[in-house]
Amino acid sequence: MIIRARVVVTMHEAPIENGAVAVSGKRIVDVGRFDDVKRHNAGNIVDLGEQALLPGLLNAHCHLDYTCLRGKIPPQKSFTDWIGAINAEKSELSPKDYVASINDGFAEAKRFGTTAIANLTGFPELISQVQSPIRTCWFAELIDIRTPERANELVDSAIESLGSARPKLVLSEAKGGAPWGLAPHALFTASKDLCRLCEEIAQEEHIPLTTHLAESREEMEMFRDASGPLYDFMKNIGRPMDDCGNETPLALFLGAAGGRALSHWIVAHLNELTEPDFNLLEQSNSKFHIVHCPRSHNYFGHSPFAFDRLRSLGFNVCLGTDSLASNESLSLFAEMRAFQKEFPSVSAAEILKLVTVNPARALRQENELGKICPGTRADLLSVPSNSSDLLEEIIASIEEPWMMIAGQVQ
Ligand SMILES: [Zn+2]
Repeated sequence: MIIRARVVVTMHEAPIENGAVAVSGKRIVDVGRFDDVKRHNAGNIVDLGEQALLPGLLNAHCHLDYTCLRGKIPPQKSFTDWIGAINAEKSELSPKDYVASINDGFAEAKRFGTTAIANLTGFPELISQVQSPIRTCWFAELIDIRTPERANELVDSAIESLGSARPKLVLSEAKGGAPWGLAPHALFTASKDLCRLCEEIAQEEHIPLTTHLAESREEMEMFRDASGPLYDFMKNIGRPMDDCGNETPLALFLGAAGGRALSHWIVAHLNELTEPDFNLLEQSNSKFHIVHCPRSHNYFGHSPFAFDRLRSLGFNVCLGTDSLASNESLSLFAEMRAFQKEFPSVSAAEILKLVTVNPARALRQENELGKICPGTRADLLSVPSNSSDLLEEIIASIEEPWMMIAGQVQ
């Protein structure tokens, strides 16, 4: 099949006017000027007309478990209050509700042009009941705060559930491209042993890891100062607090990771960083990946995200939507627009990378997803395009895009 559009945005070279992409099976086999692609390839021609064709978008951080909580939790006074509020909502939900919530989330993410997603679930045992319509890297979210002695058991049963999932669409057939990962929830809910265990497995299995780090002021206060609402909350539920009162969340994370396997980690948030933290990041010879969730960030009113500094230190920054318990939709276009408002000096080309090539790299799929070139997966979308300000127009797009996933028009 040959797909022609007014312009093809490949994400690895300049946009191609009057461009086309040739697709064979599940992969892209050619891309270039329409005339050239037509000359070198056979197959039906689908002319999308006045559209910009680009790679499908990748959401680097999401919790589809909580799609059903959209609009249920108004912004709270503190992050700790929000944890209380979401726990209260969660206590009302059954496994059936979660399955419906995850399915609704997939449908919505897809409607907004997302073709691959890093999805954390607190219920890996439900994965086998879900048919994901888009490429999914399932992360089992692990919390052992009440049962630190059972970290091994928790990880084993999560891996069993992840392994028994039969995804229709795998993230990658490439060697080493596992479609799953592990997510020790955060430093305040996952024990050191649990994190260490996940790291060992990541190194053996070549899987990605993800966690929430330095998200809120309360988390900084808890670890650095041994005080504040999150400290009190965690102490009350019986968490051992002996790691509090000295180091920042980042310093603790780098200490726990021991500098061994940082490139496996996709770190969500990283809003709260001190000057000594920036020194640590600068000295760190292995760089992890970072996910910023602009609209969830606004909802919580976190400290400003240090995009420019983190990028100039060599960190791979991606965007995510987080869950609908702190966001209003699963649209990465809306996320790009919120980012643009937050960082008006960042170019549109750079912003598009945050939802294409950068998350593909974080998920170790840089040769498979996030760009249009021969050999990559045929995951594409197109949006109306008729102005000269091409990339700005893409980011501003509010229409549901035309889409192809794994060579199939959706
Ligand atoms: Zn999250």
